[in-house]
Amino acid sequence: MSSNLAFKKTYNSMPEVTSFTPGRVNLIGEHIDYNGGMVLPAALEKGIFISLTPRNDNNIRIYSDQFDEIIELNINNTATSKWSDYALGSIVYANKVGFLNGGADIAITTTLPLGAGLSSSSALIVGILKLTASLSKKTFDNISIAILAKRVENEFIGMPCGIMDQMAISCTDPGKAIALDTKNLSFEVISLPKYHHMAIIHSGEYRLNTDGNFKKRKEECDIIKEIIGHNDICSMSDNEFILLKNISTDLNQRARHCVSEHQRTLRAIKAIKEGNIPKFGLLMTESHNSMRDDFKMSLPSIDNLVNDAIHLGAVGARLTGGGFGGCIVACILKENLESWRQKLLSLHPKAFNVI
Ligand code: ADP
Ligand code: MG
Repeated sequence: MSSNLAFKKTYNSMPEVTSFTPGRVNLIGEHIDYNGGMVLPAALEKGIFISLTPRNDNNIRIYSDQFDEIIELNINNTATSKWSDYALGSIVYANKVGFLNGGADIAITTTLPLGAGLSSSSALIVGILKLTASLSKKTFDNISIAILAKRVENEFIGMPCGIMDQMAISCTDPGKAIALDTKNLSFEVISLPKYHHMAIIHSGEYRLNTDGNFKKRKEECDIIKEIIGHNDICSMSDNEFILLKNISTDLNQRARHCVSEHQRTLRAIKAIKEGNIPKFGLLMTESHNSMRDDFKMSLPSIDNLVNDAIHLGAVGARLTGGGFGGCIVACILKENLESWRQKLLSLHPKAFNVI
């Protein structure tokens, strides 16, 4: 159902503004956007439709077809550990920066699976912030929206994510990727390969970002930063490595992932720009191995899915997103896509196709 129709059914009026915001898939560069690394996320054709009308009072009503209920709140509420927190936080922060002056009625419909590592959370927040910004007389640019959206996740939700998702969603269009330097937010828009598809398959394993695993990895990186005395884990020197190795094997492995993933991402950006897709695919697979062995963010069933994706003909495949569940992304020749997907899904009954 379109969000306009959902809005009409829920509130018995037409919305003032409506938008589509894409989800994103990270092609390579995992868990390094908060460690000074380069990342390569792409915006998706699947995303979130939002319809919104600002209100003259401070009340907020939020409807989503994923939950089929209307949540009633106001702009002074804090997070309540409910699905509506992300929309609520967006409205609260839209008020903080003057995009809105009061509450709003919102209807949300989506083609993007939630909690799958495709960043439905950032799509929802960026979508609401851009809609409310467009209603205001304030000037805004895509990077400031991404920074504000990150604040909603970090400060309002308490999710210590980096800036990658918000930048990918705010600054590029479906079918394009951005080579993003997370140290200074400079980026280059990159076209995806012509003859290959970046297939996204959900593993059927669900994780919650709030379940603590993501936070634990972030905390480990914070300890590494304290030990080496700066924030740029991705550019650690050999001496810093030796220092870390003497303290903890786990931390040494986490750091090794950050450094190698950053280097792989640089090579992958070069390969994709040169049209060297076999090399790009190999780097994707190496990235998975590093996430599995060093960052320890995969699951055995996801490792099997990645292995079978490659054995059945993908040039490369890897877990994508925060980890501990969710989706894999595989690079596969378009002409082989259908038969590849069919065979892969028949071997993995819990898995399902996303894109
Ligand atoms: P991901 O970003 O990987 O999809 P998260 O756990 O970070 O997973 O974000 C999922 C949360 O974002 C949901 O629990 C919900 O609070 C919010 N959200 C995303 N999409 C929608 C939607 N269509 N309707 C309502 N809330 C949504
Ligand atoms: Mg998220």
